[in-house]
Amino acid sequence: MSDASYDVIIVGGGPAGLGAALYSSRDRFRTVILEKMMPGGQIFNTNRIENYPGIARIDGPGLVDQMQKQVESFGTEIKAASEVTDIKRTAGGRLEVSCGKDRYVGRAVVLAPGSSYRKLGVPGEEEFRNAGAGVSYCGTCDGPFFRDREVVAVGGGNTAIEEALHLAKFASKVTLVHRRNEFRADKVLVEELLAKTAEPNGKMTIRYDSVVTAIQGEGKVQSVRLRNVKTGDEEDYPCDGAFIFVGMVPNTDFLKGIVELTDQGFIRCDCAHLRTSLPGVFVAGDCRVGATMQLITAVADGVNAAMMIKQYFRDPQWWKKADAQAGTPFGW
Ligand SMILES: Cc1cc2nc3c(=O)[nH]c(=O)nc-3n(C[C@H](O)[C@H](O)[C@H](O)COP(=O)(O)OP(=O)(O)OC[C@H]3O[C@@H](n4cnc5c(N)ncnc54)[C@H](O)[C@@H]3O)c2cc1C
Repeated sequence: MSDASYDVIIVGGGPAGLGAALYSSRDRFRTVILEKMMPGGQIFNTNRIENYPGIARIDGPGLVDQMQKQVESFGTEIKAASEVTDIKRTAGGRLEVSCGKDRYVGRAVVLAPGSSYRKLGVPGEEEFRNAGAGVSYCGTCDGPFFRDREVVAVGGGNTAIEEALHLAKFASKVTLVHRRNEFRADKVLVEELLAKTAEPNGKMTIRYDSVVTAIQGEGKVQSVRLRNVKTGDEEDYPCDGAFIFVGMVPNTDFLKGIVELTDQGFIRCDCAHLRTSLPGVFVAGDCRVGATMQLITAVADGVNAAMMIKQYFRDPQWWKKADAQAGTPFGW
């Protein structure tokens, strides 16, 4: 059991987990990352990152490789193929983290299991699933790669509208495909969208009552198949890219009954200090309520969680302090 004792146990080896590990292990806390697959998380799947400050352009695997080497150089242990299945707090305040039959004991835990883009589940979606081939789930990340090209955006919520408006800064034409005939998103966004579509020679159009049933092309996206849900009519709609904004699914099923989750499954926390409902358990990255779902914000969350852990280690009573009293007396 002593071999499996750590100061900080991090669940998930994506950007948030790696960010937390960097600070925690540099502070000489014995730190382990438990990762169900290989380190890297979602960002591993992209070949172009252009919005990480200080790095003009890098591919996901390249960045992950550097982040992994960096945390390991400070002593973080990474246990790949270790899926966390349970977390318990003992009467003495220790946290027992289970990966199937393996058990790890820690003084603090950072939950960073991330989230997954909700898929359409249509033919072609997996085949073209990267910005180079034409399917993307992040307009903020991949919009600039579609400069002067025609794209379809799928969805009708706040994110879909915000992202479609963002895409219109780059693409020559943006067609928003929405399965209903009205939007339930925030009025201010809907108004902005409708104003854009009303512009003479504007580049934005909306296909109401429509769904994408297939993404098609040779080597890259060349069209999507649209079906009108009212008439049943189908057509091939030419485009260079398909952006899918139909929601995020947090990877938190295993945390049900352990920490408080929202109805959508995001981990509830006080966003200033990243404390969850279970003392000693912090949260970071895409899996938490209010996450902005970006590489840099996930890393920053991990760093913040690691900084908060120091407060908690210094004074366990800190956990019970209300937000305003918890304070942030940092400096270096
Ligand atoms: C294709 C693609 C391109 C992107 N491009 C950009 C970009 O250019 N710029 C940008 O800012 N953002 C981009 N993003 C978004 C960015 O990747 C995410 O916001 C970021 O990865 C979130 O980090 P995270 O650590 O919170 O979660 P994740 O990256 O999802 O990592 C979570 C990790 O936890 C592991 N895990 C899950 N459950 C368990 C468990 N029970 N036990 C152990 N481990 C578990 C997962 O295997 C995963 O490795 C992109 C995302 C995708 C998919």
